[in-house]
Amino acid sequence: MKLKLHELQKPLTLSLSETDSWFCNIFESLKLKTQGPLSLHLVITKEKEDIFFEGHLKVKLTLNCSRCSENASYAFDEFFSPVFTHGQDPRVSDAELSKNELDITYFKEDEIDVGEVVREQIELMIPLQPYCSEKCKGMCPQCGQNLNIKSCACKKDDVYSPFQVLKDFRVVKQKRRK
Ligand SMILES: [Zn+2]
Ligand SMILES: [Zn+2]
Repeated sequence: MKLKLHELQKPLTLSLSETDSWFCNIFESLKLKTQGPLSLHLVITKEKEDIFFEGHLKVKLTLNCSRCSENASYAFDEFFSPVFTHGQDPRVSDAELSKNELDITYFKEDEIDVGEVVREQIELMIPLQPYCSEKCKGMCPQCGQNLNIKSCACKKDDVYSPFQVLKDFRVVKQKRRK
């Protein structure tokens, strides 16, 4: 969905749900599996050369657990407010400072792709290492057994003492270095 800047004279409010195909396509293109209803409330305001986005996204996603690779269910309820400024990026030396202060992106065209903006915000909100549960035990690095389902033979010795576990960690590391 492209937005022509000169047409944006007053704040634009969008309420999107799973019935808006361009909105759903963003999740599909990111290979994200959604569960149940989606909702995005978006207000886009123009002030001189600045475009302000204020979004509230609610979605449930099925991600892959980074520890055991089973499904990990995540409910997001996220607010975002990126700012876009029309014109050349003036930041040269003090770039780091301004970047940390505000989420500003510069653009040169007379239009903004709202889908692209939303897509970026979704990408930012996905955790790098999702997990199915905080207590997820992951997979055995040696035999690949999902340790949430059952323990494996390689782990049996560890039961006796926590220090034994540390010893085994070292052994595993050395094996990998070869
Ligand atoms: Zn897991
Ligand atoms: Zn094992």
